[in-house]
Amino acid sequence: MPLLDYMQARKLLDKYKIKSIGSAYVNSAESAADFAKGKRIVLKLISEKAVHKSRAGLVKLDIDGEKEIAAAYDDLVRRGRMLRPYKILAQKMADPGVEIIIGGNTDAQFGKVLLVGLGGVYVEAFKDVQLRLCPITKADAVDMLSELQSRKIVTYDGKAEDEIVSLLMKVSKLLTENKKVSELDLNPVIVRQDSYEAVDIRILT
Ligand code: ADP
Ligand code: MG
Repeated sequence: MPLLDYMQARKLLDKYKIKSIGSAYVNSAESAADFAKGKRIVLKLISEKAVHKSRAGLVKLDIDGEKEIAAAYDDLVRRGRMLRPYKILAQKMADPGVEIIIGGNTDAQFGKVLLVGLGGVYVEAFKDVQLRLCPITKADAVDMLSELQSRKIVTYDGKAEDEIVSLLMKVSKLLTENKKVSELDLNPVIVRQDSYEAVDIRILT
């Protein structure tokens, strides 16, 4: 099951109006600094050989200024020696929010399954997730959120509920319409009161 190229995965999300953080591949510290345009950024090393990037020191968060960017870039290149082929992805630094996971998987018998829950490190710690078969209705999406123990956190105290309900339906549509997509992981989607964006996208075809 090959990993879809990050920027292609992002395009597929765009097609379904699923928001993701501004990103671009960079091939030098200078191009990373150009991408940053004076703002804080994130640099990540993307390789099929490294599934858990942050655990392997492959996510450089909240970096700022030419010096810091160059140091982070060089460190990624050093770590990348063992992880070829790889690409270095620059991203805007998302504003703080709640991290949730939205996932999709394929069940051999029943087909596409949609998952939602608290994201980041909490996924494994609490196993508080809800699963439904695709396609889901709006009522299913509302139900998924209300069944979560962490519903208050996941919906930003209810303020982002409508936004996440609509997001779940879009992901369900993407999974249902794209037979080739066998697995999808948006972990995390960073949710705020008035918006959200996926900052880590993993799609297997
Ligand atoms: P992995 O899951 O492979 O370790 P991620 O891309 O999910 O790597 O990054 C790890 C963590 O870093 C995320 O859970 C999130 O907390 C933070 N993070 C990643 N990208 C961004 C971003 N663009 N803006 C803000 N925080 C980010
Ligand atoms: Mg992640």
